[in-house]
Amino acid sequence: HSQSFRSYASAAPTAAFAGQKGSNGKYTVTLIPGDGIGPEISESVKAIYDAAKVPIQWEEVSVTPVLKGGKTVIPDQAIQSVRRNTVALKGPLATPIGKGHVSLNLTLRRTFNLFANVRPCVSIKGYKTPYDDVNIVLIRENTEGEYSGIEHEVVDGVVQSIKLITWDASERVARYAFHYAQTSGRKRVTAVHKANIMKMSDGMFLSACREVAKEFPDITYDEDLIDRACLQITQNPLPYTDRVMVMPNLYGDILSDMCAGLIGGLGLTPSGNIGRDASIFEAVHGSAPDIAGKGLANPTALLLSSLMMLRHMHLNEHADKIEKATLGTIAEGKTITGDLGGKASTKEYTAAIVDKL
Ligand code: NAD
Repeated sequence: HSQSFRSYASAAPTAAFAGQKGSNGKYTVTLIPGDGIGPEISESVKAIYDAAKVPIQWEEVSVTPVLKGGKTVIPDQAIQSVRRNTVALKGPLATPIGKGHVSLNLTLRRTFNLFANVRPCVSIKGYKTPYDDVNIVLIRENTEGEYSGIEHEVVDGVVQSIKLITWDASERVARYAFHYAQTSGRKRVTAVHKANIMKMSDGMFLSACREVAKEFPDITYDEDLIDRACLQITQNPLPYTDRVMVMPNLYGDILSDMCAGLIGGLGLTPSGNIGRDASIFEAVHGSAPDIAGKGLANPTALLLSSLMMLRHMHLNEHADKIEKATLGTIAEGKTITGDLGGKASTKEYTAAIVDKL
């Protein structure tokens, strides 16, 4: 069986963007404004893109679940839009608590095979954190590991939760990590693991990484234990500068939040979910119900996520221009939102960025 998986993996399509410009010279991108502060921060991104003349037209869709055949599902229109455009920018979605609700984030991940979660943790100049020069990109396998959802009670009082690792998913995320390193000028890829204990599962993840490493002779490859990496990064993240770190799902979930903490604040941390059939970019934070509708939200995390999207679409010049204006506004410190210690509203901060374009 493992042999057939391997040949399937080698044939797996890549995640490169292959969208076409429309007759108006623009790419169509799906926009899911989301819940809570989602619509406010989406408005901010739209205003900045208009001012920067980014060649994108938004196709706005709602993913509020609808009833279909007795089940709640994401509206077909939203799924079709993402499938057609292959790129989407997504605001946060509130997850209702309780049984019987679909997890929209999980559904999107499964529907579009979003196999790699990319989280750059890069310090923002002018925003004071314990370390000033953090610059690490974490790439998390997004579809299996401990999150494969296979759990059962063996006998009363004993629960088994299966950690699933496949060659296919490991090779695919590893290849994406090396490809990312190559295209972003990073010289080292580190695979993070616990193969000393989980010899077979993490062992296979490492074997897949080692195989893929052979295809990229210009990039240094090494391996690090998850616990050791946590200790080292919190003591001093600087030796990890310019690295890409790739790892199975659960390790990536935890390590990426830890690293996000190093650059300060949920208002600033972007992410991308890269998939075989589509890629969806979103802020790391949630719908912030405590400040929703008050015009106080910081749109930076969604904006920086959208810049990852522009680079994925090879619109680097537009991304660079907006990034410069955004980081310049934060560094100046005059017109920043409350979470960063300022007094500006979402709209005032947005206008300050537009002024710098
Ligand atoms: P949260 O990230 O929404 O908020 C945590 C705290 O950070 C709040 O005090 C909030 O005001 C603040 N905050 C977050 N984003 C901010 C921003 N852009 N500007 C200023 N302040 C900001 O986390 P939570 O309260 O635990 O979750 C709220 C809801 O969001 C839940 O339903 C949760 O399931 C959902 N959620 C969704 C996603 C997603 O869609 N990817 C991610 C995380 C949480």
